Amino acid sequence: MKQDNSQKLFEIAKTLMPGGVNSPVRAFKSVGGTPVFMKQGKGAYITDEDDNQYIDYCCSWGPLILGHANEKVQEKIIETVKNGTSFGAPTALENQLAELIISNHSYIEKIRFVSSGTEAVMSALRLARGVTGKSKIIKFEGCYHGHVDSLLVKAGSGLVTFGESTSAGVPESFANETIVLPLNDEDAVATTLEKLSHEIAAIIIEPIPANNGLLLQSHKFLLHLRELCTKYNVLLIFDEVISGFRVGFEGAAGLYKIQPDIITFGKIIGGGMPVGAYGASHEIMSNISPLGNVYQAGTLSGNPVAMAAGAAQLNECLQKDFYHDLQHKTDYLVDGIKKHIKEKNYEITIYNIGSIFWFAFSDMTHLTRADQINAGKMTLFAKVYHYLLDNGIYFGPSGYEVGFVSQAHTFEDLDKTIKTMCDAFDLVMV
Ligand SMILES: *Cc1c(COP(=O)(O)O)cnc(C)c1O
Repeated sequence: MKQDNSQKLFEIAKTLMPGGVNSPVRAFKSVGGTPVFMKQGKGAYITDEDDNQYIDYCCSWGPLILGHANEKVQEKIIETVKNGTSFGAPTALENQLAELIISNHSYIEKIRFVSSGTEAVMSALRLARGVTGKSKIIKFEGCYHGHVDSLLVKAGSGLVTFGESTSAGVPESFANETIVLPLNDEDAVATTLEKLSHEIAAIIIEPIPANNGLLLQSHKFLLHLRELCTKYNVLLIFDEVISGFRVGFEGAAGLYKIQPDIITFGKIIGGGMPVGAYGASHEIMSNISPLGNVYQAGTLSGNPVAMAAGAAQLNECLQKDFYHDLQHKTDYLVDGIKKHIKEKNYEITIYNIGSIFWFAFSDMTHLTRADQINAGKMTLFAKVYHYLLDNGIYFGPSGYEVGFVSQAHTFEDLDKTIKTMCDAFDLVMV
């Protein structure tokens, strides 16, 4: 595969930006080689600076549920941008997107738009702390919630542990506000709340953890979280930045029929533009400034162009059978690959929910915790990755990242992907 232009661009980028990128995983560190510089996307396809074409399963890490350059989204963006890009004053477009979401989501009565998933999570935590008057947060090992200081932590040693920072620059005192527990472990949560609920403001979880492999939780565990939070006056935050509008319009909350106290959104909500949001009941949201005393603001929050893109995309998601068709396509892809894995008896398992899928070099059919992932096998992933790249299939460049199927993927694309992935597995599993 010719990569001359990507290589040249990367050399220049490295002189200008740390590691040549504006978000670390893009640098290809975990798979090796040069990041591919993209110049164009249309539907399920992306084209790089050397004119190689790929079927894309990264989809900008999830936002592009309609595929690239969807015409309806594009038209709305162009129409809106002609009237100016930002006012710092309210616009009708904010009402439009808010109304679209609130009228179609059982668990959101009020919403506040921000500009990224990280910002949504950061604001949701502040809100939870403001409402409860408590300061500690429980998070789970293997969930990612953006680069918020107090959430860049992993479990320390011991049973009930305060977090240890995973990034330089996070003060120990911030990390100490976070308690990290293993996923899918009811007892760990119950024990911790029993001891410390008077200090704990919220439990935050990706109800469908999809940032460190796809670690599907039991419905029972999620229900248990809801019960415990209610019992101990702790707020339950569902971080649905990935799962929101992805596994259904109402995300994981709708899928599992569990009402969290606060939900955070990002990715799909912006139709490929930078949008995040957090929503909750009228009562909880009334604590936000200017109504209440929890401060949160943003110069470009509710940006009209981004609102228009988000509304155009979510409108499509609301069409009849949208999620049904997406699920059907994803099942088709996953079943095609599974069949081959079974025939060859490979120790590979594919996990999927809605239009999210992930494969691991493991024969465990139920992976629910981060420590069950075999890190040693990621060298196999790197080989598979480069085979796929060379043969026109693009995934996020890390074995811990999930793949996304979009509305734009055709069965022909899926057939080609099945064949290429099976060939890749044959190559590395000998
Ligand atoms: C992507 C993601 C975030 C961070 O969103 P950004 O827009 O990258 O800041 C937070 N939480 C979850 C679950 C995510 O997947």
